[in-house]
Amino acid sequence: MELILASANQHKAMEFVELLDDRFFRIQPADKKIDVDETGTTYHENALLKAQTYFDHFKRPVFSDDSGLNVDALPDDLGVCSARFGGEGLSSMDQNKLLLDKLDGVPLEKRKAYFSCVLCFYLAQNEIYFFEGRVDGYIDTRIQGEHGFGYDPVFIPNEYLNERKTLAMIPEWKRLNSHRARASVEANIFFSQRICQR
Ligand code: IMP
Repeated sequence: MELILASANQHKAMEFVELLDDRFFRIQPADKKIDVDETGTTYHENALLKAQTYFDHFKRPVFSDDSGLNVDALPDDLGVCSARFGGEGLSSMDQNKLLLDKLDGVPLEKRKAYFSCVLCFYLAQNEIYFFEGRVDGYIDTRIQGEHGFGYDPVFIPNEYLNERKTLAMIPEWKRLNSHRARASVEANIFFSQRICQR
């Protein structure tokens, strides 16, 4: 199945080419960026809005992803608005610094957070599938690591709390265990079963 990725984010495009099983999917980046107003209040709503907009434009099967960082101590600040945290135009580094400032004085054990990802496969107007993934962890008290993007340098997955390593320090682990990786596994399983049933 040929699928157009409803996103202009190159990091995501590279991740999905690796994550989605190439026996079922051939991923094509969209050759044109289409602006989508992400007005939804949930990851599902925003993933659907992106997929629907690209499907309406290209008239071909598309898939989209909506993702974000959820921080327990700041329930109203990030989530579906993670990309716009602090206002339009801030760099990821500025957003990470702002996040650390807002959590200043909060001890590590109270800095629980998780990344969420919802994938929307919009194959036809009456054939739409959603898959979800999440990774749990903590917001570090400092910025660490060179890899990845976005909030990776401040997010420590539970599995690396003792070693105090952020996602930006463990690209191999992230590749297999990120919220996007976990949602993609669900999609791969679903579509492999669908093909077997035919
Ligand atoms: P989206 O592109 O609308 O889904 O926005 C997602 C927001 O969450 C952006 O600010 C990203 O930087 C952030 N985000 C999503 N996935 C990741 C990730 O894997 N690592 C770091 N930040 C992420």
